[in-house]
Amino acid sequence: MIKKVRSHPTQNEPLLFERSSPGKKAYQLPALDVPEVDPAAALGGENVREEIPGFPEVSEVEVIRHFTRLSTWNYAIDLGVYPLGSCTMKYNPRINELVARLDGLAWAHPYQPETRSQGAFEVMAHLEQALEEITGMDAVTLQPAAGAQGELTGILLMRAYHEKQGNPRKKILIPDSAHGTNPATAAMVGYEVENIASNSHGMLDPEVLARAVTEDVAGIMVTNPNTLGVFERDIARAAEILHAKGALVYMDGANMNALVGIARPGDFGVDVMHLNLHKTFSTPHGGGGPGSGPVAVKKHLEPFLPAPRLKTTAEGLRLDFDRPDSIGRVRAFYGNFGVLVRALAYILAHGGNGLRNATVDAVLNANYIRRRLEPYYDLPYTAPNMHEVVFSDSKQAARGVRTGDIAKRLIDYGFHPYTVSFPLIVHGALMIEPTETEGKMEIDLLVDALISIALETENDPDVVKSAPHTTRVSRVDEVTAARRPVLRWKP
Ligand SMILES: *Cc1c(COP(=O)(O)O)cnc(C)c1O
Repeated sequence: MIKKVRSHPTQNEPLLFERSSPGKKAYQLPALDVPEVDPAAALGGENVREEIPGFPEVSEVEVIRHFTRLSTWNYAIDLGVYPLGSCTMKYNPRINELVARLDGLAWAHPYQPETRSQGAFEVMAHLEQALEEITGMDAVTLQPAAGAQGELTGILLMRAYHEKQGNPRKKILIPDSAHGTNPATAAMVGYEVENIASNSHGMLDPEVLARAVTEDVAGIMVTNPNTLGVFERDIARAAEILHAKGALVYMDGANMNALVGIARPGDFGVDVMHLNLHKTFSTPHGGGGPGSGPVAVKKHLEPFLPAPRLKTTAEGLRLDFDRPDSIGRVRAFYGNFGVLVRALAYILAHGGNGLRNATVDAVLNANYIRRRLEPYYDLPYTAPNMHEVVFSDSKQAARGVRTGDIAKRLIDYGFHPYTVSFPLIVHGALMIEPTETEGKMEIDLLVDALISIALETENDPDVVKSAPHTTRVSRVDEVTAARRPVLRWKP
């Protein structure tokens, strides 16, 4: 068991600015053998900065060592388990990278003429088709650059559809087990959000829903499986209730890692949904992207999809801009093309059975973790869980240890923390999603660490409350860091 260990001071990397000394350079240039040009005259004075205040002056080896050392402080899926619930941090098979780096794909230019872009178009058309088959939907746009932008696109489609019927309607219903981006999206499109309380199983209650659905309701946004990792058992019934009043069903498909190859949203009443290629289909993510959030729709929403659309013609694939009902572009060019290539490589390398097996393994892994941790951590919703599992810290809270403390202590054991305090309907949540990436040996290490922390909480809660002890920086003041961030280095 790891006890309090203080990091060696030499492991604390100073800022590059702190290494700076005047006149040091990382390069040597030969003497100029052409006439000297005044940069301000050549570029325009407003484009030339006289001096960059405090710009670090360092040697090449100092720059290289600085960034190389920092890179070794990073935690990555290539180093170990990344159990962040909701994020689907799966391993990115290297074949994806190989394919995305093929010259013809990596160097394709978005302004290349359509006749010279046939290969790239084919990749996109093929991916659209694969995603239609996986989701059971009729058409797919690959433009949105993230899940949240897919949501925005989807709700704009919903709105355009209702407007075409003569009334955009006023409200979107959102269960309390939804992802936080869902209400944010509905509000951005100008809809009022009505919260729908889950029942004691953490699921949608058709009776509660039936009371909420009126002619004012444009639709529901439902995350399925929801953020508790629970499949909405009454989703087909819910869709019937909405459709009976002319409302639509939006499914947040960021959790498709629990469904691919097993169930298709198009078969249980969903009208429009998004996928996160950077989750389910393995493109690496974190640090802000790039991502991709394709939107899949049923036939009745297809006319509204963002323009342009790929269209097969006698001369090959072409971009079709002639789409009078389209909501317009949501992203420049073709979306994040490199992500699309990786997703298609992942899908083709797995094949249908492989994708299904990945789903089954992801669900098995989450349930194995549930079984092993249930004796030590409280499980507020005991409905069968799918690809992730959500515990609460209520047992540990009795000893003054909260989910954030357990997460920090997990760092001492060499793991990236799980998702802390989310979803909000579980107080003090510990949300764990192992994905199919992990084998039993890795999962056992993670589970053993969490069990060990539960035992520490009983015997020596202070060691947990003051964690982490093995990192370069121990506990930081998160509130001040968020409220008064210092983003500028001052000499
Ligand atoms: C990750 C996630 C999103 C948002 O996706 P981004 O690509 O991060 O914008 C939305 N809903 C759910 C359920 C998610 O897990």
